[in-house]
Amino acid sequence: MITGAVPLETLMHEHPGEIKAQILEADGNVVMRKTCPKHGEFEDVMSTDPAFLARIESLFFGRDFRAAEDKDVHRHGTSNIKFGRGAVLTVDLTNRCNMMCNPCFMDANQVGYVHEPTFEDTKAILDRAVSFKPRRQVIILFSGGEPTLSPYYLDAVAYAKKIGFYRILAATNGIRFAEDLEFCKAAKAAGQHGVYLQFDGVSEEKNKHRGVGNLFDVKLRAIENLAEAGIKVTLVVTIVNNLNNDGIGQIVEFAAKNIDKVQTIAFQPVSFTGRDEDISDELRKKWRYTLAGMTHDLRDQLGGHIQPLRDWFPLSSYSAFTSVMDMLQGADAPWGWSSCNCHPNCGIFTLLVVNKNTGEFKSLFEFFNYEQFMKDVAVITDTARGRKLSYAQLGMAIMRNFSAERAPEGFPISQIINLFKPSSTNSNSDRNDRMAQKTADANDTWRVLCVEGMWFQDLFNYDFRRTEMCVIPYGTQEGEISFCAYNTGVGWRQIIENMHKTAGLAEWYQENGRHKVYAAGKAVPLNTTKHSLSLPVIQAVLAEDAEEKPAFVSPYLVETPEEETVSL
Ligand code: SF4
Repeated sequence: MITGAVPLETLMHEHPGEIKAQILEADGNVVMRKTCPKHGEFEDVMSTDPAFLARIESLFFGRDFRAAEDKDVHRHGTSNIKFGRGAVLTVDLTNRCNMMCNPCFMDANQVGYVHEPTFEDTKAILDRAVSFKPRRQVIILFSGGEPTLSPYYLDAVAYAKKIGFYRILAATNGIRFAEDLEFCKAAKAAGQHGVYLQFDGVSEEKNKHRGVGNLFDVKLRAIENLAEAGIKVTLVVTIVNNLNNDGIGQIVEFAAKNIDKVQTIAFQPVSFTGRDEDISDELRKKWRYTLAGMTHDLRDQLGGHIQPLRDWFPLSSYSAFTSVMDMLQGADAPWGWSSCNCHPNCGIFTLLVVNKNTGEFKSLFEFFNYEQFMKDVAVITDTARGRKLSYAQLGMAIMRNFSAERAPEGFPISQIINLFKPSSTNSNSDRNDRMAQKTADANDTWRVLCVEGMWFQDLFNYDFRRTEMCVIPYGTQEGEISFCAYNTGVGWRQIIENMHKTAGLAEWYQENGRHKVYAAGKAVPLNTTKHSLSLPVIQAVLAEDAEEKPAFVSPYLVETPEEETVSL
């Protein structure tokens, strides 16, 4: 298809490379088994805890509306998104990057060409994003490569804001935001709301595999600058088994201790796409990580505070609140509320109530019966008794599902509504903005940390039933395609990037010069490494120093040897 030997229609109307698979329980795991007449047998792990997966699937909220009037947007054959509008629209601004990571899901800097849509292309993608039904709010996530390398990055942010999107974010490695506070302020002024900040752990050691000498300092500096500019931070952690899964508990502690700078963690078990598509079976088995594994590691690393079979719910359960909010705002509203009806194997979440003064946290679901609350909200939506009565019913549903005796001392029931109300157009309407007590005399103590798990698919565990209700579509020059269909072996990324290639690499460098790439241990020059963030590692080390020598190394004890800069 990339060479044109096979027409693109083949992928749209036939089913090349598709085979049946079985999902079954074997040796205490849930596995996917399939046999390809050409490549033989494959087996991979879907879940390391069958009971956990069964529970999450039983809590699935159901599919969203079937997408309508969308023929120009969804035209990708079996990979078509069929339901809903999605929750996050990813829009690539460039495939260039200023890092050279391993793993990298889209093989940045290695494909031999540059795909950098023009500003007009990007505007067309955003305009088309509001052209079909259901017409819902969606987060705009500018991505890449590294989106901040795009010469019109700030214009793209401003345009997305101008045409009515509430939440505009960047999926970034943070280098540009760490380097330049003024750039952060300009992004905020343009309408940027937040970042998905790549973050692999609370030490230089945990970030070292990405090849930048001072990457942890870069992350701390970026968080500091972004917070100062008023931009919200979500930490995005790619978890690789036997590489950084032993440090995910510390990331939760880090976020809880810095809750006014970090509001959400998105844990993403590794998916073997892009640079890792040809991974060996041996390494795949060693590095494979599942959402169930994540909930067990967090239970074990955080003293049992978060329980796998009590505190995790499918992301789709959020949609109970989308429905009631849509009902309350009425059919004439310009936008429907954002909805996240992905397949239960795709995404899960938990909510931790945090005491912002101490950093201590407790799972909300230890003292709030969320399962029953969801059912109550569905009844309130279906009975639709008008605004006043519905709000009263919501209040009663909260009261009957709240257990004051099990709640953290001093946690007021009034904060529960702040946890579930979806964000509005007002940029200060996120959960923690609503939970912050504005009046000086009120004890401004409570915040919430949202911890999510999204497990992107790869060729070894691919399931079209998941992509048809995907909530993370890519906005491309060829319509909107599920994240997993775009980045996995199906090959839509390679096809579309080649169809809309900007230039070959040599040609691009001739015209535009080379962009800097930090790799092979080279450090990013920073104005300062000073920061006001609280680091659980340092506190743990100081605590242990008081008693005995700590087992692991803190970030400032490892010196990375200076090596030759690589500029491609
Ligand atoms: S199909 Fe992939 S990108 Fe879409 S919701 Fe599922 S895991 Fe996420």
